[in-house]
Amino acid sequence: MTADTREPQSNDQLPKGVVIGKDGKPCRSCTSKRDFSAWAQMTKSSLKSGSNAGTGAIVGAGAGAATAAASTFSSPHPTPDDCPADVETLGRSTWTLLHSIAATYPKTPSAAQQSDLRTFMGTFSRLYPCWVCAEDFQRYMEKDHVQVGSRDEFGKWLCEAHNAVNVKLGKEKFDCSKWEERWRTGWKD
Ligand code: FAD
Repeated sequence: MTADTREPQSNDQLPKGVVIGKDGKPCRSCTSKRDFSAWAQMTKSSLKSGSNAGTGAIVGAGAGAATAAASTFSSPHPTPDDCPADVETLGRSTWTLLHSIAATYPKTPSAAQQSDLRTFMGTFSRLYPCWVCAEDFQRYMEKDHVQVGSRDEFGKWLCEAHNAVNVKLGKEKFDCSKWEERWRTGWKD
């Protein structure tokens, strides 16, 4: 299930796209800045009017937390760069890290390097901060085991894994024959 489409748990008052975290509060790293901001606006208005709209699902979140989030996101100015990562910023940065690991992975890795990469990817898939993304990625890795036998093998596996997320989000697939140009050598002229 994608962070963009998952409906909030038992709450039809939250803006579409706001994903609830396992703590019952809106999960920033699972939600886009735009949707999180819409929730914060809604929360701010409801706090002002004393109504419950927009706050029903944040079980356990105090008014302080709601107000802090509202004041962070309700400014008419663009969101500053030094705010916590939303699902898109986090995703973009993470793909950069993962594809860069592929780009610098040896062509003929030792058994220890293969083991390190396999362990890293397994741990990564459990610790990724967007929990809906993480659960889907774990399922993907159960079906399509990570390939760590060489740089090319891992680079292509990762490209296909990234494409699976692209498809889920309705984005175009990337041409995996070009993964090294994008992430290692730079584009051919
Ligand atoms: P990104 O998808 O972040 O890609 C960054 C750059 O990588 C692109 O500009 C392009 O140059 C290059 N690229 C694109 N596709 C490929 C490819 N197949 N191979 C190599 N290079 C490529 N978001 C959700 O909303 N729901 C989810 O369930 C979700 N799951 C995710 C799971 C993981 C493991 C990760 C790391 C991220 C996930 N994301 C998810 C975030 C999502 O994939 C995007 O990172 C985010 O939407 C921002 O997208 P973007 O268009 O900037 O480009």
